[in-house]
Amino acid sequence: MNIDKYKDLLTSLSCSIWDYAELKFTEYKSSAALSSCLEKEGFTVRRNLADMETAFTATYGSGHPIIGILAEFDALSGLSQEAFVAKPSPRQGTTIGHGCGHHLLGTASVGAALLVRDYLKEHKLPGTVVLVGCPAEEGGSGKAYLARAGEFDNLDVALTWHPAGGYGVTTGSYQANCQIYFRFKGISAHAAGAPHLGRSALDAVELMDVGTNYMHEHIEPTDRIHYAITDTGGISPNVVPNHAEVLYLIRSTDNDKVKKLYDRVCKIAQGAALMTETELEISFDKACSNVLSNSVLEKLLDKTMHQVPLPTFTDEELTFAKEIKATLNDASIASDSTLSTLSIAEKKKYIAKFKETLLPNFIVEHGHSDAYIPGSTDVGDCSHAVPTAQFDASCYVPGTPGHSWQLVAQGKTPYAQKGMLYAAEVLAEAACAIIDDPSIAAKAKAEYLEATDGKPFVSPIPPEILPNMHNRK
Ligand SMILES: [Zn+2]
Repeated sequence: MNIDKYKDLLTSLSCSIWDYAELKFTEYKSSAALSSCLEKEGFTVRRNLADMETAFTATYGSGHPIIGILAEFDALSGLSQEAFVAKPSPRQGTTIGHGCGHHLLGTASVGAALLVRDYLKEHKLPGTVVLVGCPAEEGGSGKAYLARAGEFDNLDVALTWHPAGGYGVTTGSYQANCQIYFRFKGISAHAAGAPHLGRSALDAVELMDVGTNYMHEHIEPTDRIHYAITDTGGISPNVVPNHAEVLYLIRSTDNDKVKKLYDRVCKIAQGAALMTETELEISFDKACSNVLSNSVLEKLLDKTMHQVPLPTFTDEELTFAKEIKATLNDASIASDSTLSTLSIAEKKKYIAKFKETLLPNFIVEHGHSDAYIPGSTDVGDCSHAVPTAQFDASCYVPGTPGHSWQLVAQGKTPYAQKGMLYAAEVLAEAACAIIDDPSIAAKAKAEYLEATDGKPFVSPIPPEILPNMHNRK
């Protein structure tokens, strides 16, 4: 299997998506570029899924095993940055940038789907490859809505990857979360002339935040509660604000625990409304599940990662990597996701190794874990619907922080593209290994059923809540 025949196609596709740099739910050009590429290649495409215009699936083949490959393609606000410039330098005409490398992520997945198609065709084998185009990974939980709509249910397994500093299989359990708006309505009044007639919505927000900050003493160490005040009610101190809003993000190790924290936070909000004689409106925004890791699929990915040759780099590529490295803080190396479940000693060893390399030529040793990892991903909901595994491939200088200008600046470099092509080949090889030996999918399924106790997936998002593109103000 060789990705080289698709190198030009994938390189230009990833550069186009980097240029489009579209925000969650509005990835119209990026979604169209990826889906129409596969449509032209003989895949059957379904678009506009689960109330998201930019969600799609592209299917090729027939029969089992049915292998899902996940593709992301959204960018981030506030991260406009020129490519190949090793200092902050916003790109003209946009405030958005690919600060998480999803232009590489989605494109490699398309490359993998093409290679699997070729393999099925060439060997006349039963089996199906489904590329799932997942919008709005950043702050929209697109996969959670796809999972709720049952879009992963017909798959036997799902595979994906993420661009990173290092190479390694991702393991452990990222947190479940939910996000909710708390809106308070008060009565405005002249803050000096008639304060007794006013009821401050901003007071309610502040008291609610004080209440949840006290609650922090009485939650588990693996819980997280963060908030942003999204409406302060105005900028005039001499007006009692009659509206204010705060957005809460609540995380824990599983959906049930998140729901319990959510209920407690709602009580605090109600208390704040009582204290201030304001009205409270609670508006659920989105949620995602914790990740169920799958050791069978992780082992397969790890084996495949060692079979596909790692990229090598030219002096010119290393020169730019060196310029980028000079802008980085070594401390961020420790947060590389491939290191998150390692022992302290192992972590130390790899941090030292990362510090001395510009672009790594080694794979972080894999050890399966279901340990808790802070942070969340909507891959969690996919992993509750179908056995799922993912890996990281190096596309950036280790220590490049996620969601940073440095990450955007490296998005079109040949070394990022080499990481993308490597990822495409690993995904495809792993998928073809399952096509050759469907017992791998059966073993992965058995492990998944044990982890879920055989219970069907229940989405943490209430049925009446639509993807948050529908309640944008
Ligand atoms: Zn990402």
